[in-house]
This record gives sequence, structure tokens and C-alpha cells, in this order.
Amino acid sequence: SAGPEDLPEEIWAKVQDHPCYSEDAHHYFARMHVAVAPACNIQCHYCNRKYDCSNESRPGVVSEKLSAEEAARKVMAVAAEVPQLSVVGVAGPGDALANAPKTFRTFELIHEALPHIKLCLSTNGLALPDHVETIAAMGIDHVTITINMVDPEIGAEIYPWIFFRHKRWEGLDAARILHERQMEGLEALTAKGILVKVNSVLIPGINDEHLIEVNKAVRARGAFLHNVMPLISDPAFGTHFGLTGQRGPTPAELRKVQDSLGGDAKLMRHCRQCRADAVGMLGEDRGAEFTLEKLTEAK
Ligand code: SF4
Ligand code: SF4
Repeated sequence: SAGPEDLPEEIWAKVQDHPCYSEDAHHYFARMHVAVAPACNIQCHYCNRKYDCSNESRPGVVSEKLSAEEAARKVMAVAAEVPQLSVVGVAGPGDALANAPKTFRTFELIHEALPHIKLCLSTNGLALPDHVETIAAMGIDHVTITINMVDPEIGAEIYPWIFFRHKRWEGLDAARILHERQMEGLEALTAKGILVKVNSVLIPGINDEHLIEVNKAVRARGAFLHNVMPLISDPAFGTHFGLTGQRGPTPAELRKVQDSLGGDAKLMRHCRQCRADAVGMLGEDRGAEFTLEKLTEAK
């Protein structure tokens, strides 16, 4: 299992009680996502907007939409019931930073009430360079960026459009801007000592052979972990990838890519691609016990 021997000491000190980074911690600490981020500023072909962001979540269940105040209340209720709660993240259902004011307000409220809780967020990276200062100032020390390509030609097959600087961009331009913003954001965060994990969605026939390049690029810019996740494509939940119905990788295909990236994947193979409103120990989702409706009833 993952442990101190796999990571430099200063990084280990920051991740040892984070269930998502440490195989050991995930037995003892709990995490929680609050679904305060409904909007997204890009379109991934594999996204089905009816469900949570595929950055970190499975399709199939729509997260309840929470205000910042509701989310903070929910976190306090969970913390009272789940003493192992160590991390609260914003991971969707859209993009945490496309909803930046609300995401940061949520963190502020949580930090005021429960200063020992670690905060994390995940993002597609497009808006990231604009928020690095705030992220650092708020003490958010874990950020996940979903990076599926470092070549705009490949990006154009993954992202039909982005919305940037009050304008919609398409094709190669969109992919180039997204790529540049992702690299800029990653560099700026790591320069500030913030731990950045990169997630890549493995899309067979599109970026499977390219992920080794992604791995090199993100490592060179200081990402401390690179986690490859399978595209979850389920015909029951509508058509992913435009009209063509892109399939997800087989377990063997996934393992092959993860193995080609070396040691990193070992640390993250227990990632469960939790829903945007997951609650509890990793691999367990007690989200249904802590819906807003239930918290209101309990009062
Ligand atoms: Fe969907 Fe997430 Fe992509 Fe936005 S970043 S389009 S929410 S998968
Ligand atoms: Fe951790 Fe992965 Fe779940 Fe995020 S999706 S909380 S990284 S296990």
C-alpha cells in the first residue's frame, strides 16, 4: 500500500490524513464533497450534464444543489456524526471555479466553523490562473486538475467548446486556450507549494497513447500525482461523446496505461471516482443519510 516510502517527506506530511492520497489514511479518515458548483465553463464530449462532473464522479445520480450556507450546515452535521471527517471538497456537479464566488464562500463558512478540516477542490483548470491567489490565501492545499491532453489536436476531439473571457471558443482555439490555462494554473499552484493532483480520463482511441505525454508534462510542472481514470460510458445514461457513443476502457486497457506511467498510479488505485456529494469513508457513500431534506427534518 502507499506510504511514506513513496513520497518525499514534506509531501507525505500533507497527505497522510487525506483519504484520497494515502491508501492507509483511507481506512481511518473520511472525506465529503459538497455539490455547490452547478455551472461549467467548458464542454467535454464525455460529459452528460444531467449528472455530476465526470472529473470525479460517476454518472447516474444527480447531486442535490446546495447554497453555500446549506453546504456548510451539511458539513457541520456530518462532522458531528462522522468524527473521522478530515477533508471537504468541491468537485461538481460542474466546475468548482466556474462557480468561484460560491465555492470560496462555502470554504470560508466551513473554515470558520471547523478550522481543522482540510479543504480541496477540483477543476478543469480553465479559470484556475485567475484564482491561484485566492486558493493560496484561503489555505486550500489540495487541488485536482483534470488534464486529458497536452496537444490541442487531441484536445479538439475531446472538447467541442469552452467559454472564456465572455466568449465561446471552438475547435483548436478552444483546446489551445484550455491547455495553456491548465499548464499555467498547475505551475502557479505548485510554485506556491500547493499540492496538485492531475486526473486524466482514459478515452480509448482518443488519448490512450497520449497520456504518457500528459504524464511527462504535468510531472515537469510539479504535479505530485497523476491519476488515470476510466471513461465511464453507460448507454443507460445517454450517449457520451456526441452521437457516436464512445466506449470506456476495459480493465486491462486501464491497467496497461496506469502501468506505463510508473509509480504514481499505485497511490491512487483506490480512487473510487466518488460522486460530487459523496460522504464518508472512501468506498462508502453515506450521502443519502445526509441530504438537506433529512437535515431539515432532524431539526
Ligand atoms: Fe462536464 Fe466536468 Fe467536463 Fe464540465 S469539466 S463539461 S462538468 S465533465
Ligand atoms: Fe478522493 Fe477520488 Fe473520491 Fe475525489 S473522487 S474524494 S480523489 S476518492
